[in-house]
Order: sequence, then structure tokens, then C-alpha cells
Amino acid sequence: MAAISFEVIKTEKHTGARLGILHTPHGSFETPMFMPVGTLATVKTMSPEELKEIGAGVILSNTYHLWLRPGEDIVQEAGGLHTFMNWDRGILTDSGGFQVFSLSKFRKIEEKGVHFRNHLSGEKLFLTPEKSIKIQNALGADIIMAFDECPPYPADYKYVKESTERTSRWAERCLIAHDRPEDQALFGIVQGGMYKDLRKQSAMDLISLDFPGYAIGGLSVGEPKPLMNEVLEFTTPLLPANKPRYLMGVGSPDSLIDGVIRGVDMFDCVLPTRIARNGTVMTSRGRLVVKNATYARDFRPLDENCDCYTCRNYTRAYIRHLIHTNEILGFRLCTYHNLYFLLKLMEQVRQAIREDRLQDFREEFFEQYGFNKPDAKNF
Ligand SMILES: [Zn+2]
Repeated sequence: MAAISFEVIKTEKHTGARLGILHTPHGSFETPMFMPVGTLATVKTMSPEELKEIGAGVILSNTYHLWLRPGEDIVQEAGGLHTFMNWDRGILTDSGGFQVFSLSKFRKIEEKGVHFRNHLSGEKLFLTPEKSIKIQNALGADIIMAFDECPPYPADYKYVKESTERTSRWAERCLIAHDRPEDQALFGIVQGGMYKDLRKQSAMDLISLDFPGYAIGGLSVGEPKPLMNEVLEFTTPLLPANKPRYLMGVGSPDSLIDGVIRGVDMFDCVLPTRIARNGTVMTSRGRLVVKNATYARDFRPLDENCDCYTCRNYTRAYIRHLIHTNEILGFRLCTYHNLYFLLKLMEQVRQAIREDRLQDFREEFFEQYGFNKPDAKNF
């Protein structure tokens, strides 16, 4: 018995965007879906009950961070990540690869794995595909990820080619090391940087290993958005139509819609939670930095078109005051609103797919958000 199953319910007539349902051992969720990030087994400032209230069906947690603190053995002893954090819906863990490459100043890649330093203590560590899978098996998420290298942008062809080929070999080792295929689905990660032939080779290598789902990695790493969309448009059609597709690290409203249009089913990003703690929110009329002095006497909600708990009960002036005085409730209210905004956006996207009007929805949303203006502010 496979850990997950995926049904494509409808394909949008004009764009090919997909409406689907993903069934996991911890419940099902509709796709396209945005996954809030709970790095240290908590979506910062949100309780599991609140996450359910806003419609989160799956969250992401970080293998690297949980490996260091509290240690996967403690999580396993608690009965796995779901029990440990009191979350009975879907969880996806990343492989730790991205953090190894982004947090550690020192690192040395070899065929067997990566030498690097603990970003907290400086202690020397070594992570291999086998070790990453062993940790993820102990954590017990419903979806786990292959250990890969995410090449930087820009990177030259030779570097990306060698890296991508190694990622394919590592993917095979992950599959062999995986001990719980009956209740944990292991996804492969397509790399290849901005080079189409390498993306194609990577996709072909991984498809031959028959993963239950495929992620597209190595995007949203500093390249211009049109280039990201171009690579995506080229890559998603290479992937099997009956398997879920997950675009890693993407969470700005425009990129979510543009990703869905190019056939993506799942997304994750720290953006909505990270900017919230800095007093920045997403609204239907664009980005709003509520901590700014302009809002000191603004007694409207964060977003006048939003019906979330924050917007039904609190004003910009009050939230600005909380953020300004470092009150925890301020961070909580902004986080709640931002996550609600993105989950609601995905709900609207799914509805637009049902009604075959995703392109029109995109135009309306972009117009109102202000993305169509030449000086549009993004994140
Ligand atoms: Zn709101």
C-alpha cells in the first residue's frame, strides 16, 4: 500500500492548471495548496487549532533544525512529529539539504555527502542522503524529501551539470535508504538550475526511479521572476500528470498564481510568517507595512476585503501599536492574517479552476493587488 494517493479532479480549460486531492495517512487536502512553514515543529505564533481554523491541511517542518534541536530521537520517542506537536493533519519534512547549503559558511561536498558546520555551535557535521532519510523516517512526516543540492544562482553550466547528476545519484540512494514507504511518501527533487537540458535530464533521471511525487527545486533563489516562470513552464510538462508537483520555497501571491497556471500543485514558503513578524502584511490591495507611522490613526482593518479573525476584530492603528511596542499579540495577528490570506487565495484559485476562469482571476487579482503597475511593490 502506498503512503499517499493523488487524484486530479479537473484540468482548467485554458491554462492546464490542475485541481486535485492528495490523500495522506493524516487526512486529505485539496490542491493547489499552500503549506505554512513550521521550521521547529511550530508555525511561529500559531496554535494547531488556529491553523485548522484557517484551513491548513498540511504544514512543512525542517529536518535540519529538528535534527539539531531537540534531536530526532526525542521526536521519535514522543511518538513522531504529529504527536510531538499535536498536529493530526499532513506534514511534509524537507531533507535538510537547503539549510546545509544556505546556513553554513563552511561546507565541502563530496560524493558520499556534505561536510559543514552546525550554524548554532560551529560543531562539524556530516549529512548524507542515507542520514537525511533516517532522520526523516524517525520524525515520521507523511511526505519526506530526497537529499539534494540546490545550486546557487547564478551558477555556471559545468557546476550545475555535476551537481544535478550527483543529486540524481543521491535520489537513488535516498530511495534505497527509505524504511517506511508504506506510510511516508518520498518525493524526488528536480534540479538543473536555469539550464533546460539539465532540467530535462534531472526530470528523466528521477522519473525512472518512480517517486510518488516530484518537487521542483532550485527556483526562487534570486533569479528574475520571468526566468523562474520560463523554467517552470518548461519543467512541469516533463513530470508525470498523475503525480503531485511541488514548487519549493515560493509564497508571494503573484508567484503562487503563476505557478498554478504552469501546473504546480503544492507550495511552501516562510514569507507570510516571516514578514508578519516584521509588521508587513499581504492585502487584496497590495503589500502593507502596518508598523509604519502612517497607520498610527488608521482605524480600518488590515484588509477591508478580508474576513479573518484579525480583520474582523482589530484595527491597523492597534496592530501598529502592538508591533511598535514588540507585543507578541501583534506578531500573532499579522501571522494569522497573512496565512489566512494565502490559504484563501488558493481557495479562490481552486474555484477559478473549477469554473475555467483562472486567467481572468489572475488579471483581476493582479490589477487589484497592483502587480500591473510599473512601480508595483513585491516581497
Ligand atoms: Zn485578515
